[in-house]
Amino acid sequence: MNIGPRFYSSNHSGKTLTSKAILCALACLMLAPVSTFARTVAQKKQAAKAQFEVAENLRDNLEAKPESQRTRREFQKVMDAYRKVYYTAPSWAKADAAVLAVAELLDDQGRILKDAKSFQDAIGQYEFLRREYPGSKYRADSLFAIAEIYRDDLDNGKQAKATFEDFIKHYPGSSHAPDARKAIAEIDNPSAANDPFKARQAKHELVHVVQYAQMGLKEFASRYVNGFIRRGSYEEVPLEKHAYLLESRFMQSSPFSVEQEVKQWREAETS
Ligand SMILES: [Zn+2]
Repeated sequence: MNIGPRFYSSNHSGKTLTSKAILCALACLMLAPVSTFARTVAQKKQAAKAQFEVAENLRDNLEAKPESQRTRREFQKVMDAYRKVYYTAPSWAKADAAVLAVAELLDDQGRILKDAKSFQDAIGQYEFLRREYPGSKYRADSLFAIAEIYRDDLDNGKQAKATFEDFIKHYPGSSHAPDARKAIAEIDNPSAANDPFKARQAKHELVHVVQYAQMGLKEFASRYVNGFIRRGSYEEVPLEKHAYLLESRFMQSSPFSVEQEVKQWREAETS
C-alpha cells in the first residue's frame, strides 16, 4: 500500500495548505519534545520538592519514637519516601540530601536493629552519593562516615584505617582531617592512644627502669629510701621528682634520651 502519492493526487487543490500543514507539523515535532521535556523536568523537580517534605516528616515521626520501638517496616517506609525524591528528579538541588538521608537511616537501622547487612548497605549508599553527586557538599563527610562504620559498626580496623587514610589524602584541609589522623593512630596503637594517662604512666615507669638499670638495686633502693626519709613524702623523693620531670617533658617536647638524662642527673646528685 502506498499512502503518499494517493494523498497528494486526491488533494491537488489543497497542496499549499498541505505544505503549510506539513511545515507546521514539523515545527511542532521539533518544538514539542523540547517544551514537553522542559516542563516535565520543572514539574519533576517540583514533585521531588514536595516528596522531600513528605519524607522529612516521616523521618521526624520515626525519630520522635524511642529507638527500641522503631521497626524495620517503618525504616523502609521512610527510606522509600526519600528514594522517590531522587528517582523522580535526580538533578534537583537537594537530591543529594535525600541520598544522604537514606545512608544515615541505613546506618541507624543497622545500629538499632543490630544488623550488619544494613551497615554494608549504608556504605553502599554513601558510595553512591560520592559517585553520582561529585559536586555534593556531603561528599567528604560521606567518606568519613564510611570509615566510622568500618571502625565502630563492622569492627573492621583494616578497612577503617584504609578509608581514613583515603580521607586525609583527598581532604587534607578538612576540619575532620585531625580526627582521621587520630583515628589511624588509635587503630595502630589502641591502648596508648585510647588512654593518654597510660602513655604518660608508661613513660614515668620507663624512667624508673632506666634509673634502676644504671644504679643497680642497692643504690636505687638506698636513694629511694633515704629520699623518702629525708623529704618525708613519696612525691618529694628525688628519684620520683626526676621521673615526673622527664614524664612531663616527654608529653610536650621533642624526643630525648632517658638514659642520658638519668646519667647526668645521677652525676649531678653524686658530685
Ligand atoms: Zn614513680
